[in-house]
Amino acid sequence: MEENLMQKITALAKRRGFVYPGSEIYGGLANSWDYGPLGVELKNNIKQEWWKRFVQQRSDVVGIDAALLMNPKVWEASGHLATFSDPLVECKECQRRFRADEIDESTISQRKPRNDESKEWIIVGAWRCPYCNAENTKNPPRQFNLMLKTFLGPAEESANVVYFRPETAQAMFVNFKNILATSRLRVPFGIAQIGKAFRNEITPGNFIFRTREFEQMELEYFVQEREWEKWFDYWLGEMKEWLYKDLGISESSVEFVEIPEKDRAHYSQRTIDIEYKYPFGQKELYGLAYRSDFDLKNHFQEPPYKDPETGEASYPHVIEPTWGVDRSVLAVLLDSYAQEGDRVILKLKPKLAPYKAAVFPLVANKPELTKKAREVHDMLQPRCMVAWDDRGNIGKRYYAQDEIGTPFCVTVDFETLEKNDVTVRDRDTAKQERVSLPDLPAFLMNKIYG
Ligand code: ATP
Repeated sequence: MEENLMQKITALAKRRGFVYPGSEIYGGLANSWDYGPLGVELKNNIKQEWWKRFVQQRSDVVGIDAALLMNPKVWEASGHLATFSDPLVECKECQRRFRADEIDESTISQRKPRNDESKEWIIVGAWRCPYCNAENTKNPPRQFNLMLKTFLGPAEESANVVYFRPETAQAMFVNFKNILATSRLRVPFGIAQIGKAFRNEITPGNFIFRTREFEQMELEYFVQEREWEKWFDYWLGEMKEWLYKDLGISESSVEFVEIPEKDRAHYSQRTIDIEYKYPFGQKELYGLAYRSDFDLKNHFQEPPYKDPETGEASYPHVIEPTWGVDRSVLAVLLDSYAQEGDRVILKLKPKLAPYKAAVFPLVANKPELTKKAREVHDMLQPRCMVAWDDRGNIGKRYYAQDEIGTPFCVTVDFETLEKNDVTVRDRDTAKQERVSLPDLPAFLMNKIYG
């Protein structure tokens, strides 16, 4: 992938209203981003497709929308307060601060397990700075907790400390019994949520890839222990379908990486990172983890599940597929970006495109054409997002719509007035066909959603 693709995407995102730098008129706020009119459509379309596929079109998954601030005991029980941290290092030479996993492993002289339970390793010996190459001998990484703190109520004292959730998942676990009591679900079943999460990342960056405020789509799927492998494979298949069919990402852009035991959480017997080949390197897009009964055991002293047939109480085991919303937006933008000469095309899946169609009068200075084109626009608008453009020449309008991924352009010309049909131009093939006006809504809906 081209090195400068990130610059092109970032510039396009700003120029056309997908994503702006956050708080820009005040000099910005480092690594914060605001989704603009087209960005919010793309992002919402991704979330809606996800919700449809994984919640509404299934009878074994239900959704929740939980509070962002939770009782701090949640984070104590889940282990986040003690261990949700990244190893932070500071180079004595260049004073740069970064995550220890950026250090080239071959330059580390000594490592040891993080603690008795953990299979993760920490650096205890010397290491070389990946930025200035200085050797560091006396400053091993220290753990930096990523939870973002705030205070509830007027007094900023420790009794009032709460944390912005660093993931959406814990709300699914703490509501486990509520959901069972208000539904007829039985294992295997899942609970899903889409929402914001916050992490005080040491090194945010790469546009919307790593930010301190981001959105997740998470699903906790509860299974019997003996069936975890079957369900793990099942969810891996579902994640692939989502990537290739719903997002339209090409298989060659993605890598499924088995996480070796030494890098997995101690309770997980299998984790796969689904990595995307970003221009800045191959990095995590999504994750899939088998979490055993770790989470439910953390929160419930008694087994929270009773088998409706046998009456046997148990702690179901969990398969957790997790998706980042912002990384989905980034991957979709990168994967759909195409350039043909000076023409830029975002080859978005029609379902994801902010505008599904654009309507133009062939020329702007003929009132009868403009009037007819307005009628066509207004006929389509209740069904889908439709753009309107009557500036410049038709070629420029096509280019402007290609750049934001509008799959169809509908032109009203003089023939329309006689024959009651329009020209529909396809973004990807640039082919044009005449479609009669009464057939137009069904024609477009079929191409977009069919
Ligand atoms: P990374 O290793 O990149 O820090 P992670 O393993 O900590 O990611 P998870 O805890 O598995 O990430 O979070 C689930 C998903 O949430 C990730 O796959 C990613 O899509 C998204 N995500 C996590 N951290 C961020 C962030 N700082 N900014 C944007 N998205 C994020």
